[in-house]
Amino acid sequence: MKISISQLMRFLVIFVVGFILSAVSLQYVSTREHRRKNRPRQCQAMRKTLAGAIEMYNLDFNTKVADIDPQDYLSENGRFVTEGYLQGPLSKHPECSYVYDPKTSSFSCSIHGEFKAY
Ligand SMILES: [Zn+2]
Repeated sequence: MKISISQLMRFLVIFVVGFILSAVSLQYVSTREHRRKNRPRQCQAMRKTLAGAIEMYNLDFNTKVADIDPQDYLSENGRFVTEGYLQGPLSKHPECSYVYDPKTSSFSCSIHGEFKAY
């Protein structure tokens, strides 16, 4: 059996395309895995930012915020965004749901729990 140059080229192209596709999908999977593993840290960083913003707000207005509407920090028109306590609306992960504790001025996450100092 004789293999022609065009057949050889076809095999080569299929091999190269397959190699590239597997490399790209592997990269995609590892990036997704990396993001998933880092989610608790991102969540915690977000809650820390939020707690800091509320602390500043409390100091400036000489008050103690008791109840927080998530739109206050998730919306472009939210109170902490428009007042300049956050640089922009926070983009928390959809799975995370924050509960504010006015006693400690901190947030806990329904998935990632209380704030922990690493
Ligand atoms: Zn979370």
